Amino acid sequence: MQGKEPNTLLQDFIEKCQVHNLKVTPQRVAIYRELFDSTEHPTVDAMFQVVKKKFPNISYDTVSRTMLTFAEIGMVDLVEVYGGAKRFDPNVSNHHHLHCVSCGKIFDFHSDHYNNLEIPDDVRRAFTVLTSRVVLKGICEKCSNPGKISP
Ligand SMILES: [Zn+2]
Ligand SMILES: [Zn+2]
Repeated sequence: MQGKEPNTLLQDFIEKCQVHNLKVTPQRVAIYRELFDSTEHPTVDAMFQVVKKKFPNISYDTVSRTMLTFAEIGMVDLVEVYGGAKRFDPNVSNHHHLHCVSCGKIFDFHSDHYNNLEIPDDVRRAFTVLTSRVVLKGICEKCSNPGKISP
């Protein structure tokens, strides 16, 4: 959802809240904003650290519950992580992931080719495929050049 006007983002949020009978609170707006600003597929913990700066009284529990609610109603996606903390993805459109096994960061990438992956016949017979995502595991640029100082 990058590149969206901040007001459009807020309007989207308010509309989604109305559809799902969710109260619009300043905390929820802040969590939603930070989540959509983030490109790192943050954990609850990472989001808590950010939101806490604006709302010193907010509890970890509130942030956690809010993010899970967002995921439940499809506002954000959960990234498939095997073990470890849940990671949240504000980008619910079709995209793919680069997962660095060294630092654990997850980066988005887009590929028309991967969007149209052919599903093997035997899979298609046994399983109704709704969506597909390609996850490439490897080492990110920063981790493969630890000496390189990024600008
Ligand atoms: Zn890395
Ligand atoms: Zn993603």
